[in-house]
Amino acid sequence: MQATTPCGQPDLVSIVVPFFNEADGIELFQHTLRPILDSQPQLRFEVICVDDGSRDGTLDLLLALSRLDRRFRVIELSRNFGKEAALTAGIDAASGDAVIPIDADLQDPPELIAALIAEWRRGYDVVLARRVDRSADSYLKRTTASLFYKVHNQISTIKVPQDVGDYRLMSRAAIEALKQLPENQRFMKGLFAWVGFRSTTIDYVRHARSRGETKFSGWRLWNFAIDGVTSFSTAPLKVWTYIGGAGAALSLCYAAFIVLRTLILGVDVPGFASLLVAILFLGSLQLISIGVLGEYIGRIYLETKRRPTYIVRQRHGDEHEP
Ligand code: UDP
Ligand code: MG
Repeated sequence: MQATTPCGQPDLVSIVVPFFNEADGIELFQHTLRPILDSQPQLRFEVICVDDGSRDGTLDLLLALSRLDRRFRVIELSRNFGKEAALTAGIDAASGDAVIPIDADLQDPPELIAALIAEWRRGYDVVLARRVDRSADSYLKRTTASLFYKVHNQISTIKVPQDVGDYRLMSRAAIEALKQLPENQRFMKGLFAWVGFRSTTIDYVRHARSRGETKFSGWRLWNFAIDGVTSFSTAPLKVWTYIGGAGAALSLCYAAFIVLRTLILGVDVPGFASLLVAILFLGSLQLISIGVLGEYIGRIYLETKRRPTYIVRQRHGDEHEP
C-alpha cells in the first residue's frame, strides 16, 4: 500500500459518521477524534458527518464544527432515513483512499483508527473491528444478536462475521465494489461481507454509549434482523415446500392408519379435539407462510419503485477540498 497518491499527496482517509439526535455527544466526539487525527500527520483526513434528519440541534453543532475544523464536512439529509441509508450517503460522498464508518456515540473507539490504518498499509482491503467484550450491551441484546448471527449464517450464502458491526476500514477498491450494489434496502453488514476482498480482524472492547440513548429499540432491531435475513437468504421462502411435504406425508400415513383401523375395528366415534388441533395447526402454518411471502413481496415492491436510498437537503463544507 502506498503512503502517497501518484500526484505526491499523502493518502486521504475518510471517516464516515451517521448522526441522529446526537447533540449531547458531539462535543465529546470531536474532542476524542480530532487529536487522534492530528496524531497521524502522514495522512490527510476528511470526516463526513451525515445528519440523518436530527431534531435536536445536531446539525447546527456539526456546522459549527465544520467551520472550526476544515476536515469536517456535513451532509444534511432531508429527513430521517435510518442508519443504513445515512451510512450509504456518507460512503457515497467519501473520496478517501480508505473509508472508515464509525458511530457518533464513541461505542466504536476512535483510538482504533491507527491500528485499522496500519493493517490497511499491510495490504488488506478490509480491516474488521471485532467486539471481544460486549458487556456494555445489555444481556438481551447480546443473546439476541448472537442468535441472529447463528441463524443468519446458517441459512445465508453470505456469512456475516459474528460481533463485527459497521466499524471497519475499507479500501477504495472495496468501496467502489460496494457502490455497485444497487439495492435500496441496505443491510450494510451483509453488503460489506458480500463484496469480499482480503480482510483481517482486530479486536476491541465495546464501551457504553457516551451520551444519550440507543436509537434501536427491540422492535426496530427485530425488523433489522428480518431485513438481514431476507436480503441474503431465500431459505425462509423455500422451507415451506419441505414443511408442506412432511405434513402431507404424515397426513397420508395417518389416513392409511384410520382406514385400516376402521376396516379392522369398525367405525369409531371421531375425535373433535384432534380435528380442531389439526385445523388450527395447519391454519397457523399457512398464515405464517403467507406472512413470510409477504415479507419478501413487500421488499420486492419497495425495490421495484427504484426510489433513491436517501435525499440530500444540502452539503456543507465541500468548499474545503481535502
Ligand atoms: N443513527 C442514524 N440514524 C438512525 C439511527 C441511528 O444515523 O435512524 C446513528 C446514530 O446517531 C449513531 C449510530 O447510528 O451514530 C448508531 O446508533 P445507536 O448508537 O443508537 O445504535 P447501537 O449502538 O445502540 O446499536
Ligand atoms: Mg451506539
